Amino acid sequence: MANDKEFVKEVTPQAVDFSQWYLDVVLKAELMDYAPVKGCMAIRPYGYAIWENIQQLLGGRIKATGHKNAYFPLFIPQSLLQKEAEHVEGFAPEVALVTRGGGEELAEKLVVRPTSEAIICSMYAKWIQSWRDLPLLINQWCNVVRWEKNTRPFLRTSEFLWQEGHTVHATEDEAEAETLQMLGVYQDFVENELAIPVVAGRKTEKEKFAGALRTYSIEALMSDGRALQAGTSHNLGQHFARVFEIQFQDKDDELKYAWQTSWGVSTRLIGALIMVHGDDRGLKMPPRVAPVQVVLVPILMKKKKEEVLNKARELAARFNGKLRLELDDREGYSPGWKFNEWEMKGVPLRLEIGPRDLENGGVTAVRRDTGEKSFVAEGDLMQQLPLILQDIQENLFEQARQFRQENTRHAEDFDNFRNIISEKRGFVLAHWCGDAACEEKIKEQTKATIRCLPLKELDGVEGPCICCYKGRGKKAYFARAY
Ligand SMILES: [Zn+2]
Repeated sequence: MANDKEFVKEVTPQAVDFSQWYLDVVLKAELMDYAPVKGCMAIRPYGYAIWENIQQLLGGRIKATGHKNAYFPLFIPQSLLQKEAEHVEGFAPEVALVTRGGGEELAEKLVVRPTSEAIICSMYAKWIQSWRDLPLLINQWCNVVRWEKNTRPFLRTSEFLWQEGHTVHATEDEAEAETLQMLGVYQDFVENELAIPVVAGRKTEKEKFAGALRTYSIEALMSDGRALQAGTSHNLGQHFARVFEIQFQDKDDELKYAWQTSWGVSTRLIGALIMVHGDDRGLKMPPRVAPVQVVLVPILMKKKKEEVLNKARELAARFNGKLRLELDDREGYSPGWKFNEWEMKGVPLRLEIGPRDLENGGVTAVRRDTGEKSFVAEGDLMQQLPLILQDIQENLFEQARQFRQENTRHAEDFDNFRNIISEKRGFVLAHWCGDAACEEKIKEQTKATIRCLPLKELDGVEGPCICCYKGRGKKAYFARAY
């Protein structure tokens, strides 16, 4: 039989090297594997199941707010991407080009989409003529390619999966309301389903999306104290509409340019799940998105082996379609090995059933978040399991919220700011005058960037800028980020 201890031994403890811990865990938990092309990954079934749950839970919210799914092509004629100067400049270094097809040099090179504004806008220009065609609310789930130099599984890969919403509106107010609505949808989804607390705010001019009027984001804090942008929502203004000639006849018979938004979250969210909740024993999956919510492990000894196995099968069948419960009746693995493996995969709740549990008429339940063990009588399982899972979900959120609270600090002068960033990391709230030169100087000297200007003003009072002390401004969230 395989040795129980060996399973976790191969994972670097977080305190030794967080970055290595992350890489060890993504492989060991079988979320992904490295592909032959550098920076690309194969998402394995366990990792993909998390993505499917994200698609289902977020997709439901996207549809509930009136959006419909569609699909646009992977290839964009290079001239189409080049139409919009800021946009092309923003993405140029990361663009992959197709130059040959069908054994011949292509007359026009094709861009593999780094994002789909260009191709979608060219279609919208055909589909929109009148105010009656608005608003147009479309979302697509797809892959995009950005040729990255420094890659890390799920966080930054050359090809990744995401959803991108692209909407068109008659007025600026409507576009702004849509941008903020979707930011709110992301916040609700990430906090309630992924159990990750986020700060919602506006990006600075420097950090906004190439070609956007305004960019908003939700920002999460990882357990190593670095921030991660978990989702973005852009008010594109009329910028793309003018370039791609998306015009509509308004009610007053005037021909007007439309207002647009785009918004997206990606497989980065899986990286966030790993880094916010995980520990030295592996992942901790929030029950709402866990591919396996409950694992049932029969403890098979010579005594009563068949009875224990039969009872385990009977219980598993009872939860079929009600919970994502998996019966682990594999042979050739010790219970200890199985426990370690499911802990590594972050399954929220483990049920053990052995001869003694059978005699007592129930199962032993072990929580992944707290390690707490309890006995649950068979008759109470149907009622108890959803309650325990709900409690785990809430506890994971609360732990992450507390961590963020403890790691959000206010800095009043630059030395203080620099010390916090280099010694403690986390979020730092500090006054910023709004000048891009100060923003750049802070980044150069501390590697911290402005994550966002919070929508909910924590401290609405203006104060002297942390960098120049001359200008005044409200507090911004700073952090070193992924
Ligand atoms: Zn300043």
